[in-house]
Amino acid sequence: MTAQIIDGNPIAEKLRKRLATDATAFTEKYGYKPGLGVVLVGDDPASQMYVRMKRNACEKAGITSYAHILPADSTQEQVEDAVRSLNEDPKVHGILVQLPLPKHLDEEKVLSLISFEKDADAAHPTNIGLLAMKGREPLYKPCTPAGAMIILQELGVQVAGANAVVLGRSNIVGMPVALLLMEANATVTICHSRTKDLQSYLKDADIVVAAIGRPNYLHGSWLKPGAVVIDVGTNKVDDPTSEKGYKYVGDVDLESALPVVSAITKVPGGVGPMTITMLMVQTVQAAHRLAEKTENA
Ligand code: NAP
Repeated sequence: MTAQIIDGNPIAEKLRKRLATDATAFTEKYGYKPGLGVVLVGDDPASQMYVRMKRNACEKAGITSYAHILPADSTQEQVEDAVRSLNEDPKVHGILVQLPLPKHLDEEKVLSLISFEKDADAAHPTNIGLLAMKGREPLYKPCTPAGAMIILQELGVQVAGANAVVLGRSNIVGMPVALLLMEANATVTICHSRTKDLQSYLKDADIVVAAIGRPNYLHGSWLKPGAVVIDVGTNKVDDPTSEKGYKYVGDVDLESALPVVSAITKVPGGVGPMTITMLMVQTVQAAHRLAEKTENA
């Protein structure tokens, strides 16, 4: 069997076309662009890169970005003030707090302050709580998990009734992707660092979502033949053959997985493009929602 290697870019591109139309419609109707507010604290190079990528994507999508770049030693109050000012700014419709925050800050408190209606990255506990409750709909879904679900949908994967194994239980990937799979009627098992005998779960998994942050950790021989694998892991490893001296690899050992699985996402370029695109999509949704609410008030 030769697996299909899934490129997220064409899938994201399809979403971006619709997004551009929705953003233009907003701008024409209200006379200003949808706005995304970003809070970045500190000088972590990866976080800075993600924020730059998001700003560029915003520009291309017809969204204005409003960045609050704060020094690493910012106080809790300064970071909270940045979030409050974005909450109050009528030109800002979506808010993203780039994680991780420096250790001295109370992340939960900061995320809880984001206006629920501007929570385009679905970091607010209310949005996550609604996602977990049967019959309830969050206003926004966490971007990476939502992007992973769209990839499955685009591939025509039968999620209902499938055995899905999620590796990782973080707030931003593992836990919400498990909830979305459950909502789509998969039978979901969540594995984490304390799981005993991981392979015994993987051998029956029709769908595997790997989000553990361990380079090439999952060997193909652990996977069920024909499984569909969404590799969220994005791990920087040394690569003396590349000009930069490093490259990014997933959590799944691609070489050994390819002869076993039916499809697997690329790293990089699989789930990553979907994450940024979902943030833009949900920002434009927020813009329409908030503007209509103001009109009807
Ligand atoms: P995280 O917060 O560090 O969580 C990692 C999770 O993996 C934890 O739940 C941990 O278990 C579990 N884990 C660690 N080692 C394990 C093992 N050997 N077996 C089973 N489970 C194990 O990471 P994250 O933020 O979710 O990110 C995960 C990966 O996705 C990273 O590589 C990150 O860079 C990538 N990522 C990519 C995107 C994208 O857009 N492409 C977005 C977000 C994240 P415990 O809970 O027991 O500690």
